[in-house]
Amino acid sequence: MNQNKAVTTLQDIIRIPSVNDREHDVAQYIQGLLAEYGINSELVEYQPGRSNLVAELKGTEDGKILVFSGHMDVVAAGDPVDWTYPPFDAHIEDDRMYGRGTTDMKAGVMALVWAMIRLKEDAVAFKGTLRLVLTVGEEIGMYGSKQMTELGYVDDADAILIAEPSGPDQVIYAHRGSLQYQVIAKGKAAHSSTPENGIDALQLIVDYIQESNRRFAEALPHKVNPDMGASFNVNTVIQGGDQINSVAGQVTLSANARTVPEFSNDEIIAIIEDVMAELSSETTGQLELNVLQNNPPAAGGHDSALVQAIRQATGRDIPATVLAGATDASNFGRVEKPHDLAIFGPGVFNLAHALDEYVSVSEYLEFIDIFTESAKAYLV
Ligand SMILES: [Zn+2]
Repeated sequence: MNQNKAVTTLQDIIRIPSVNDREHDVAQYIQGLLAEYGINSELVEYQPGRSNLVAELKGTEDGKILVFSGHMDVVAAGDPVDWTYPPFDAHIEDDRMYGRGTTDMKAGVMALVWAMIRLKEDAVAFKGTLRLVLTVGEEIGMYGSKQMTELGYVDDADAILIAEPSGPDQVIYAHRGSLQYQVIAKGKAAHSSTPENGIDALQLIVDYIQESNRRFAEALPHKVNPDMGASFNVNTVIQGGDQINSVAGQVTLSANARTVPEFSNDEIIAIIEDVMAELSSETTGQLELNVLQNNPPAAGGHDSALVQAIRQATGRDIPATVLAGATDASNFGRVEKPHDLAIFGPGVFNLAHALDEYVSVSEYLEFIDIFTESAKAYLV
């Protein structure tokens, strides 16, 4: 493998501004690169301009199925003027490549691609299957991983490695789920001089917040994950009311719960629905639930065969840790067959979505080695 080419191909995909769109261009570029080395791949369209990619390498005999995964979309760059180097130039200064998506997570994606190429190029003998699954729209809604899971691309996986930025010194084996929802209070607007003619939706939401907070505080601390702690809920936005001299006819509360396997998204929803039913009535108004995003927590075991393979590949006993945010692993975890999970890739988590995002070029190259060796160590 040519190291310069590994760097320039990463620059090439950074220069495709796949801001919640245009993943097709990234996928097509990677398809061309894989084809140069005799690896066939398939593009799975999510919608025009947005395609997931799947490629497979088969070993010399049957064995386990290892999925390498990453997302090809990036978040918006904000005002380019605020960046030291333009966000889609992939400018290299010393050991750092700057640009939107360097850390989150095109360096991870390209390191997986190059590890696959190297296994093929070096004709490494392994058992089983290495499958590359690259997704669209992870940053907003995780559309790609949802689609690929529904289409069965991870049904048979024994292990999934997602190359989100962890850096080389830890491997993440579990993360919280995320439930985004709205509770809508529907009352009846009336002149504030005659409130008895209306139904106060604002008061209903206040009552809902108080009662749901009380119920969450009572229930959540009893079912705790040893590494991640308890599930929790944060009320984030209130919108409602029309004007200062009217009783509010409708108020919407938005909230985001962050969950652990021990207290699931469904159990949170059950509490919400219970409180809603308790407070809704002809005289107090009606509460409705609107679930916007329902991503379960992901967990794979902190000492799984995949985590051990990664430790073997790094030659170090790196710690297995947990992550507060959600990844595509939430959707992959919906399949019936349990799988090992590792979230492990080049980059610095705190630089994700930040100004002047960068990745260390040497760390990116190091991860190509680590991914190659991890696949070899796992697929035995
Ligand atoms: Zn990411």
